[in-house]
Amino acid sequence: MSGNHCVKFWHGIPRDEILWQPLVQSCLCDGCGLCVTSCPANALSFDFELKLPFVEPMRCLVGCSICASICPNQAILIPDFQTLKDIIECHHLEVTARKELKSHRRRYNSMLPQAYGTNDLDDLHN
Ligand code: SF4
Ligand code: SF4
Repeated sequence: MSGNHCVKFWHGIPRDEILWQPLVQSCLCDGCGLCVTSCPANALSFDFELKLPFVEPMRCLVGCSICASICPNQAILIPDFQTLKDIIECHHLEVTARKELKSHRRRYNSMLPQAYGTNDLDDLHN
């Protein structure tokens, strides 16, 4: 697992201004832990007393919905994807992305997968 830290920005937008995080419905959760052990960002830990997942919102990856998708009991709610689309449109993130691609051709070039490094992935959040 990677990304064991809080993200402060997402494409230049303060992460705490983006309402994107899972909501665990405790009445449906049976404490299996599958969401916790599957989160790619370590944004979920486990409360062994309550037998429930615990969410750390600032670690949650904007746009991700893995935990909700895999929960056997459909106990996890994720924000409406329209929320995300509105943020992308409002902040002109498609324009930002095109500029990013152009200015970092080597990093994103599909013919040069070896160009990838962990720092490159971290850069996406700055
Ligand atoms: S995967 Fe679903 S049922 Fe299992 S711990 Fe997570 S929320 Fe609860
Ligand atoms: S939405 Fe993705 S990053 Fe966020 S808690 Fe769920 S699995 Fe982790």
